[in-house]
Amino acid sequence: MENTPASALYGVVGYPAGHSLSPAMHNAAFRAFSMDAEYRVFEVAPHDLETFIQSLPSRGILGLNVTIPHKEKAAALLDYVSPEARRVGAVNTVKVHSGRREGFNTDGPGFLAHLRELGVELGAKTIAVLGAGGASRAICFYCAQSAPKEIAVYNRDSAKSHRLVEALNENFPGTTAFRAAETVEKLDLAEADILINATSLGMKEDDEMPVEPRYLHPGLFVYDLVYNPARTKLIELSLKKGCRASNGLGMLLHQGMLSFEIWTGRKPPRKEMETALLEAQEELWRSSKKHT
Ligand code: NAP
Repeated sequence: MENTPASALYGVVGYPAGHSLSPAMHNAAFRAFSMDAEYRVFEVAPHDLETFIQSLPSRGILGLNVTIPHKEKAAALLDYVSPEARRVGAVNTVKVHSGRREGFNTDGPGFLAHLRELGVELGAKTIAVLGAGGASRAICFYCAQSAPKEIAVYNRDSAKSHRLVEALNENFPGTTAFRAAETVEKLDLAEADILINATSLGMKEDDEMPVEPRYLHPGLFVYDLVYNPARTKLIELSLKKGCRASNGLGMLLHQGMLSFEIWTGRKPPRKEMETALLEAQEELWRSSKKHT
């Protein structure tokens, strides 16, 4: 017997988007509220994104997460973008409301919520960030609100880190020093309190380390946005070097909870979402081991 399609459709759009943990998390939330809704994965290539975003109302999609590599482009394709997401220049959450496509960013608030749970303070701290894509932009803008001493950004494509630093200087004049580092070495990690990996390095087993191990020191708190694998090479080595370290699963949970609230107006069922995420992460890890 064929399953009846759910009356409300949600999903994540990315390219590639195959191994997202978001369907498990959001479908668990819908089940917790007995909602007739389903969350799917939409793999859409960059040149098809505009058509896909336009077609959201006709496809009956009420809510969408946006992931690699579409977050920045999506911001320019919507009917409305929240002031926060506009400032960041990246959208990770779309709500379709009476045919209107509205964009938000829950990555930054999700990151801060996880740091709060971990007891990590940002005020007066020296922060080094690897990457200058959508996630890095969200994180830098939200970290800047806590008035750290410095945010230094390194990106492979240095034009992007310079653009990000320029935008941070415009939006947060005064307290914090923002700078683009031309090399990882120039991040001066010996002086840093917090290192954030906001590149996609670490997702694949043969990825190189985003920083050389010699830069890691016990005073450093290392946050890797990558959550699959749960222990990236960066996390493994950071722990070995005596750093405190976390992967990005808590951020994924919090950004997902915030997206759910935007779409449904309901308080997200955290316990169910978190359990589903952990189970899906474990399952993904087991199936990746089967294929190696
Ligand atoms: P994005 O906009 O596509 O940016 C990707 C970033 O990674 C860019 O800075 C890019 O540098 C860098 N990069 C990619 N391949 C690289 C390589 N081989 N060497 C060095 N740098 C490389 O993607 P995003 O949305 O910012 O996501 C970045 C990472 O954060 C991904 O791993 C994503 O899964 C993760 N993320 C996690 C959460 C969470 O909730 N935990 C939320 C959002 C994102 P160039 O600009 O030079 O290409």
